[in-house]
Amino acid sequence: MTKRNNIKLETVNIYAETGDFVFCTYCGKKMLLPRGADKCPECKKVGHLSWIDGEPEEVNSVEQLSGRYKLNDTDAELEDYLSHEVLVDEYPEHHVDTDDLVEGEILVRICPVNKYPTLVEYKGEERCLCLHNDSQEEDRKVVDNWIATQTIPKFDKDNPELFTAWQAGKAEMHIATLSYFRVSDKQSLGGCDNVFYEKRQAMRSLVDYFVNENMEKLKDVYYVCEVRLFAPTFEERMTYPDTQSIFDLSDYSMVKPYYSHQVNSI
Ligand SMILES: [Zn+2]
Ligand SMILES: [Zn+2]
Repeated sequence: MTKRNNIKLETVNIYAETGDFVFCTYCGKKMLLPRGADKCPECKKVGHLSWIDGEPEEVNSVEQLSGRYKLNDTDAELEDYLSHEVLVDEYPEHHVDTDDLVEGEILVRICPVNKYPTLVEYKGEERCLCLHNDSQEEDRKVVDNWIATQTIPKFDKDNPELFTAWQAGKAEMHIATLSYFRVSDKQSLGGCDNVFYEKRQAMRSLVDYFVNENMEKLKDVYYVCEVRLFAPTFEERMTYPDTQSIFDLSDYSMVKPYYSHQVNSI
C-alpha cells in the first residue's frame, strides 16, 4: 500500500518566512511564527508556545519545513501573535512619568495600543501593566469608578463661593494642566489650565479630553497631563483677587504635580 505524502504530512500554519517554529500547548497547533511571538494566533492564549521536541531551534524557516510538513500560509495582525504587554512595548515613545510612582500603584493611563483611558498597575522599572476588561466601555467604567474612589467631593464645583473658601483654607485647589508639544522638536504648541476644587474632577477633566475626537486632529503631537495641588500660605492666597489672577501669575506652575501622564497621538 502506498501513502500519498500530502495526506500523511502534518499541517503547519506559516505566519512568517523565518521565525520561531513552535507549538501551542493549549490548542496543539504547530506554527512558524514571527520571532518573539508570545501569543497563539489560533486560540489566542498567551504563554503556551513551546519549542517542538526533536526540532532544534535552528529550524526556523519555510525552506527548512517544506517537504516535511504541509505548509499553510496564514495572515495575522500584530495583536494576533503578540500579547498586550508586548504590544505596549512596540510603542516605545509612550513613556510614563514614573518618578512619583510606587510599585503596585494603580493609575489611569491612555493605553498606547487602543488609545483609551485604562487602569494600569505600575510594575516598577518604568513599566505599567494594562488592566483591561473585555471592552473599552467596561474599561471606561472601571476608570470612572477608580477616579470616584480617589476622594469624596466636599464642594459643588459651580458654587461661586469656592474661590473664597479656598482663600480661607476651607477648600483645596487642584489645577489640571494639559500641554501639547511637537514630537519632532519638543516645541511647546500650547495648552490649557483649569481650576477645580476637587481632585476627582481635575483628574476626570484630563481623562475626558482624550475620549472625544481631538486626538485624531492633532498629528505629530504629544500631550502632557498634570494635576497640581495649589496650596500657598493663607497670606499668599489673599494676594489673588480672583481665579484669573492665578493664571496670570502662574505661580502654581512651580508646584510639583502629584499626577502626571503623557499621551502620544499617532
Ligand atoms: Zn493555541
Ligand atoms: Zn492597554
